[in-house]
Amino acid sequence: MPEHTLAPSPGRHPGTEAGMEPDAVLALDRRHVWHPYGPMPGTLEPLVVESAQGVRLRLARPAFGQRELVDGMSSWWSAVHGYNHPVLNEAAREQLGRMSHVMFGGLTHEPAVRLAATLAEISPGGLEHVFLSDSGSVAVEVAVKMCLQHWRSLGRPEKRRLLTWRGGYHGDTWHPMSVCDPDGGMHHLWSGALPVQVFAQAPPAGFDAGPDPDYLRELDELIGRHAHELAAVIVEPVVQGAGGMRFHSPAYVRALREACDAHDVLLVLDEIATGFGRTGSLFAAGHAGTAPDVMCVGKALTGGYVSMAATLCTPRVAEGIARGSVPVLAHGPTFMGNPLAASLANASIGLLLSQDWRSEVERVGSGLRAGLAPAAALPGVREVSVLGAIGVLRLDHEVDMTAATRAAVETGVWLRPFRDTVYAMPPYITPDEDVARIAAALCAAAREG
Ligand SMILES: *Cc1c(COP(=O)(O)O)cnc(C)c1O
Repeated sequence: MPEHTLAPSPGRHPGTEAGMEPDAVLALDRRHVWHPYGPMPGTLEPLVVESAQGVRLRLARPAFGQRELVDGMSSWWSAVHGYNHPVLNEAAREQLGRMSHVMFGGLTHEPAVRLAATLAEISPGGLEHVFLSDSGSVAVEVAVKMCLQHWRSLGRPEKRRLLTWRGGYHGDTWHPMSVCDPDGGMHHLWSGALPVQVFAQAPPAGFDAGPDPDYLRELDELIGRHAHELAAVIVEPVVQGAGGMRFHSPAYVRALREACDAHDVLLVLDEIATGFGRTGSLFAAGHAGTAPDVMCVGKALTGGYVSMAATLCTPRVAEGIARGSVPVLAHGPTFMGNPLAASLANASIGLLLSQDWRSEVERVGSGLRAGLAPAAALPGVREVSVLGAIGVLRLDHEVDMTAATRAAVETGVWLRPFRDTVYAMPPYITPDEDVARIAAALCAAAREG
């Protein structure tokens, strides 16, 4: 026996044995496991997934007559190439044979360095320096820290607030939460505890809608009025995701760039949901033809395989930090630059860029547009919108999650509606017939939910 193998301790430990029945999984789940935004103990029964392949999730046992579900969610924007992909599997295997992880303090390695160089090359102009972290929320925390420290180092510590527009989502840790939509992010729950940021009205909806001059003026005026105390403006460009699934004109992103330059405030674009082609541009900032001072990516970065995120910044931001009395960026997660995650990110980005991803995203978008057209006539549907490979039905009421989810599952599709919204962002590889099925499921969920 190899000396590092532990002798088994006496007695059975249910969690340490593989091969459980679905009922046993659910029993332990209910007893021990928190789910996103869930109560403890849980009130809704999750579906047990046994495996996933291509665009299909295979359930451990049938739900509403279906054993396999077409994934309409890309596991929250991330699995853009689908599941169990041979190229990504091979990248993981190859990297596991070298090392899964080593610390990043004092050490470096090819996967992380290649990833940083690639991100610097493909992202909007001027973002040269890359901080690798383990989740989107942390990437946003790092972005905020970069901006605050930049101004502190330049002798302007009073520039420490953030400005954003309503309807946003930037993650669940503290600073990101403070710039989430105040209502959707439940700020009332945290009054007195969360930093209080400056909120503009949500940008007027519609990717193709011409910019509203009144809104532009108010935005510029608000940034100007608070500039003396603002470290940065932070927004999701073009698509507001988990804060409400709304699209807006790229003109507002351009306007933010101009206002930030005019008033000496940094601009952070959170591309964690929009990055890697989802909106039809490699990064949503591309629609606006502009670049931020700091950008966050995550979600699809590793093709949905493992958690990793990155915060990129310009030399200007980095040089500001370097000029301080503490000239370092004081952040260093244990799993920073994780080689396994970085290898998967390299493979996923390589796979994306080696294909005509733009046509694939357009193809999925056209399928959604065609399949969702009839939804406009459904009672209770207020709005149908499609951008890139994202399809959204907005209802005139709060979705009945149980009924909507059931209707989708009965159609053979996995969806996760929220608030007044039923939406899908399928993997880019989704075949036409499955895109049609996802659109049908969205309609069914809107009808029943
Ligand atoms: C999901 C998301 C985050 C948070 O990422 P996590 O990996 O869940 O921490 C931040 N910003 C945006 C825009 C997101 O969509």
